[in-house]
Amino acid sequence: MTKLTPAAKKKLRARSRLVHLGRDAEASQGFVNVPPYRGSTVLYPNVETLKNRSQRYTYGTHGTPTTEALCEAWTSISGAAGTVLVPSGLAAIIVAMTTALSAGDHFLVTDAAYQPARVYCDTILKRMGVETTYYDPAIGAGIEALMRDNTRAVFVEAPGSQSLDMQDVPAIAAVAKSRGACVVMDNTWATPLFFSPHAHGVDLAVEAGTKYLSGHSDLLLGLVTANQEWFPRLHRTVDALAIPPGPEDAFLALRGLRTMELRLKEAERQALSLARWLKERPEVLRVIHPALEDCPGHAIWKRDFFGSSGLFSIVLKPVSDQAVAALLDSLQLFGMGYSWGGYESLVIPFDCTKYRTATRWAPGGPTLRFSVGLEDIEDLKEDLDRGFVRLAAAA
Ligand SMILES: *Cc1c(COP(=O)(O)O)cnc(C)c1O
Repeated sequence: MTKLTPAAKKKLRARSRLVHLGRDAEASQGFVNVPPYRGSTVLYPNVETLKNRSQRYTYGTHGTPTTEALCEAWTSISGAAGTVLVPSGLAAIIVAMTTALSAGDHFLVTDAAYQPARVYCDTILKRMGVETTYYDPAIGAGIEALMRDNTRAVFVEAPGSQSLDMQDVPAIAAVAKSRGACVVMDNTWATPLFFSPHAHGVDLAVEAGTKYLSGHSDLLLGLVTANQEWFPRLHRTVDALAIPPGPEDAFLALRGLRTMELRLKEAERQALSLARWLKERPEVLRVIHPALEDCPGHAIWKRDFFGSSGLFSIVLKPVSDQAVAALLDSLQLFGMGYSWGGYESLVIPFDCTKYRTATRWAPGGPTLRFSVGLEDIEDLKEDLDRGFVRLAAAA
């Protein structure tokens, strides 16, 4: 076998890159995978190297061969200048925001952002002198009207958490760029395989590796990628914060990376099948899935995205909370719990009215979010079929 040069690896298609990037059999004594390097101290061969820190690995908090392997691969599939790793998706959001903002700055955040991200804006950023304004996710180029002289960053998430509002990222990014503001995006739903954030004007892109990169609900990890302009500042920020992920989590994420495309494509296929089936159900008022033709935001999704993931929401026709609980409590294959993107199917009820401040969310009935896993789709439909019988009985 002839060793692939870094240049040759770059030319590979995404799927091949997922298999070959971040692996060096020579460095791993011939073994296929990079092992989980555990370590604090890294030894230096002499005083000069120690003083200048002039070697690849310098200390446990600054990266190991395991984390470097994951960063190399993620940077490549993201079309970024570099990647940093942190112990959770939320930590990745916080690192990105902290990279972009300083005291006295104004921050624009989509009203459909992952809710815990708002907590950081409304508490710590506020205390540090950053003012946050939430905006309508559908604002597009209209964001211009909200820009102030001190607006230093705009946060986007497409589609948004739970309500899956699509956003015109290039339009928002163009305005932000013209005003010198940093564009931060939570790209967890699509992953870099289905949306290329940096090609659409995003400066800092966040991914909860906890979701599809892991794929097995057994780790927490966050990744932030940056373009050339922002990577040095991102790197300095994460170095100052000193919050590396655990070695085992980085190793498991690297393992997840090898099959991520397969799992994501299957989740997409399964979710579309279930979404179309749910659309025909008499109990369902509306299905919110950007890849469905009649979903608001579908045109933008079609223009900018390469695929859709396994996460979507539905609105039920008005029924009592009791009836919804009867449906959910009776399910045998769909688990109930936070997080998503694993091999197992999940469903949760949600209520955006609890935290939205810039827009009024009035779906017209109870709302549920599905994360579709890898079970046989017919079994999943039968499980829901039985659940709908329970719902009707309780209504
Ligand atoms: C889950 C999630 C996060 C946070 O990831 P954790 O690893 O659970 O902290 C961030 N953004 C989105 C969109 C998510 O769904």
